[in-house]
Amino acid sequence: MDHVTSLKCLICGRKYRPDEIDYVCPLHGDEGIVDVEYDYDLISSRINPSILADNRDFTIWRYKPLLPVEPDSPVPPLTVGWTPLYRADRLAARLGLKHLWVKDEGRQPSASLKDRASAIAVVKAEERGAEIVTTSSTGNAGAALSALCASVGQKNVIFVPETAPPAKIAQLLVYGSTVLLVRGTYDDAFALCAQAAKEFGWYNRNTGYNPYMSEGKKTAALEICEQLTLQGDGSRPAPGRWEAPDRIFVSVGDGCIIGGVHKGLKDLMALGWIRKMPALMGVQAAGSAALYRAWRAGTDATEMTPIEAHTIADSISAGLPADRIKALAAVRETGGAYIQVTDDEILAAIPALARGSGVFAEPAAAAAYAGLARAVAEGLVDPEERIVVLSTGNGLKDIAAARRAVGEPLRVGRDLADVKRALMQ
Ligand SMILES: *Cc1c(COP(=O)(O)O)cnc(C)c1O
Ligand SMILES: [Zn+2]
Repeated sequence: MDHVTSLKCLICGRKYRPDEIDYVCPLHGDEGIVDVEYDYDLISSRINPSILADNRDFTIWRYKPLLPVEPDSPVPPLTVGWTPLYRADRLAARLGLKHLWVKDEGRQPSASLKDRASAIAVVKAEERGAEIVTTSSTGNAGAALSALCASVGQKNVIFVPETAPPAKIAQLLVYGSTVLLVRGTYDDAFALCAQAAKEFGWYNRNTGYNPYMSEGKKTAALEICEQLTLQGDGSRPAPGRWEAPDRIFVSVGDGCIIGGVHKGLKDLMALGWIRKMPALMGVQAAGSAALYRAWRAGTDATEMTPIEAHTIADSISAGLPADRIKALAAVRETGGAYIQVTDDEILAAIPALARGSGVFAEPAAAAAYAGLARAVAEGLVDPEERIVVLSTGNGLKDIAAARRAVGEPLRVGRDLADVKRALMQ
């Protein structure tokens, strides 16, 4: 990894060589999240927008020179990344906006954005020769690790709260993971997984602890800019440049996705591939809004204390967001905002997004769209802006929630008169 210069502690600023530490800054224990720093000159000699324009590898590995893995490390065979970025004109019109796109992460192999991070975890575990990989998860990170591990025959152990939606638990079992259903919250599962990983020497994928997970998630931002450029909107970027949107809406639980999206954009700025940093809009469920509150109050990430989290959007339920340092910086450094939305707004956003764009999102993913609707209502966005909503997970992940958001189907017997009666209602 000659392109990775150091791992920098986000609390004390101390830098480590990538072979010096596996996860956090030893001076700061489990809190000591580190950021991966790169040699952008070296990276520029290996990859640039024109080289990428000719690259036919439509997975996250097209960006391998920008990822924290050895150049010759084998990568898992599942097709992770290059999810569709749909222009959503009808949805835009309904909100009074001109330029809106929805990126559908429900199209990933395990049906959520988490595959981007888990793909990196599987490569890192293989580089380390780890026998077992583990993670705690509200469901999707586990399902993603489970799927990616299955694709290469890697043993793994997943800790999920017993309240995780059945579809996500089914995924873990089908892919053959060892599944530990924790009697407790996601935060409890996180702590237990961390203890087990230390005790048994397992490779730990935990969000906000393993520094490489936000690096995997940053590929969503790289794709947004590359895809926006490919689709074009009349305004041609200069050769060697990509287009960046003005604003990106991201739902936030632990904060790893928004931190990763920010990192991807910072990489692109440092490389000179984009000119302007988009504003990042973090959307939280009102019942799990630790970051929203910290942002409003101007609290430092290191001063945050746990809250009790309750929301129908299980994937963004986090009492003390594990990646809080990166998550607050993402919004503060880009001139964005945190927004909170109620569970009712989240539920209403599921059919609204599906009917307006054809994208069926799980509650946590629909939250990003609910956040956009709220931001429009509060006058936080300019109608001329180019806006991207990151839809982080597939609606089929949580059918019970989706059914709560919609009415009942029309019921008919086996004759046409019944159909006529039903249609007239
Ligand atoms: C994990 C997840 C999120 C939130 O990501 P964080 O990194 O925890 O902030 C949002 N939506 C879905 C579908 C997820 O699986
Ligand atoms: Zn430190």
